[in-house]
Amino acid sequence: MSKGTLYIIAAPSGAGKTSLVTELVKTTRYLTVSVSHTTRKAREGEVHGQHYNFVSVEEFQKMIGKGAFLEHAEVFGNFYGTSQAWVEEQLEQGVDVILEIDWQGGQQVRRLMPEAIGIFILPPSQKELHKRLTGRSTDDADVIAHRMAKAVSEMSHYNEFEYIIINDDFDEALFDLKAVIRSQRLSLEFQKDYRRELLSDLLK
Ligand code: 5GP
Repeated sequence: MSKGTLYIIAAPSGAGKTSLVTELVKTTRYLTVSVSHTTRKAREGEVHGQHYNFVSVEEFQKMIGKGAFLEHAEVFGNFYGTSQAWVEEQLEQGVDVILEIDWQGGQQVRRLMPEAIGIFILPPSQKELHKRLTGRSTDDADVIAHRMAKAVSEMSHYNEFEYIIINDDFDEALFDLKAVIRSQRLSLEFQKDYRRELLSDLLK
């Protein structure tokens, strides 16, 4: 069986990454998204084990001590981390894994797994980004202003990723995401393994 591919998908807050990834996973076979651990408080509607594994700072630090994270980072004053054992298990089973993490986490993962493919999602303009952040009622004005400033610094890391997708029209951005995954699955490197039998039959 071919091993799965690891994708790092990053974006500034408000670019629409989570909605895109949710729809992508729903409509693509052999693809799953890693559920991160975080010390952030759950927002309304967020479910433990589904959106995040919500843990205390003490629990999080214990996990760091045990070397349980493939990467971890502090974002907006909260800790976030990706379970290494879980990711490796999925990849071994031939399932592609998406890490929805920030660029700091992306850099750490790259050091450990340089074969990971990075995708960066951007909004079509600063004006639109601001509109989207304001439209999200779960955070107050201070948080929005802070995130807007952070978004610009986050976006400056676009050149650390293999693919850039602009989320102006949702369906088009989704199509683009699917195209990246599909092209990876059609690559020689992947097909050599995945289509081993066919390739050998064809050359008999
Ligand atoms: P939010 O709190 O809005 O869900 O996420 C805030 C930021 O944390 C986002 O940029 C998100 O990509 C990042 N994030 C979520 N999970 C992880 C993780 O496991 N590791 C890292 N490094 N960043 C994460």
